[in-house]
Amino acid sequence: MRKHKWRITLLVLVVILLSIVSSRVSPALPTAQTPTISIPSDIINGSEGYVPDDVGADISPEPVATPVPTPEIELPDVSIHEWNLRLVNNINVLSKSFAPDVSEVDNGQYFDSRAVDALNSFLDGARQNGFSTYISTAYRPYSTQAFIFNGKASQIAWPDGDLAEAEMQARKLVAYPGTSEHQLGLAADIIDNSSTTLVAEDVEEMPLLVWMAEHCHEYGFILRYPKDKEEITGWYEPWHFRYVGVEAATFMMENNLCLEEFIDLYKIPEA
Ligand SMILES: [Zn+2]
Repeated sequence: MRKHKWRITLLVLVVILLSIVSSRVSPALPTAQTPTISIPSDIINGSEGYVPDDVGADISPEPVATPVPTPEIELPDVSIHEWNLRLVNNINVLSKSFAPDVSEVDNGQYFDSRAVDALNSFLDGARQNGFSTYISTAYRPYSTQAFIFNGKASQIAWPDGDLAEAEMQARKLVAYPGTSEHQLGLAADIIDNSSTTLVAEDVEEMPLLVWMAEHCHEYGFILRYPKDKEEITGWYEPWHFRYVGVEAATFMMENNLCLEEFIDLYKIPEA
């Protein structure tokens, strides 16, 4: 019995010794385990938002600028194709036959019948504030504009100048027929009773015109050719007021826009 016990002990020792030796010779085999890899759901779903890692690149990614939101300007709910917002200038020309329905105002002048009340209110407002008013010109038919323009061109060409050259010069002084807002019937040149000439530098500080420039929008009018927009409009005329309606006039006034700029806001940008 003793001998048998001893053999078992020896066998156990040999097994322990062998297992120690074998663990030193060969590294322990990795345990058979499935590695856990977490895959972003973006890759699985093929989302466009997934950006693969730029493996090996040692440059840090470009910082993405936070987009600055453009302040949304809420435009007045008006149509630029309405009669009161019609743009007339060197590009947008009225035909020879264009003639609005007009009504008489002060000084034997005529104005578009749809806006004549607004003009009278505007003039009344000025008078109530102690100013005198004088309409130098309101509606002017195509034929009158042509007469004035041709007269100016002839005067420049006289006595034997080139008429075509003279017309080019005249265009800087007098609106070419079809390009005048006065033909539209919605513009009035207004000064006070003390003035006789329409020279911008002479009348720009006239108290009536200062008041009118400040209050015209309340009656639906704009100062059509202000000094700071001369590069766009081509004219500086502190006496020339144009009816556009209260909503549009107030918006243009508050945002310092001339009519050309205002109308541009309504144009759909080309793709
Ligand atoms: Zn005018």
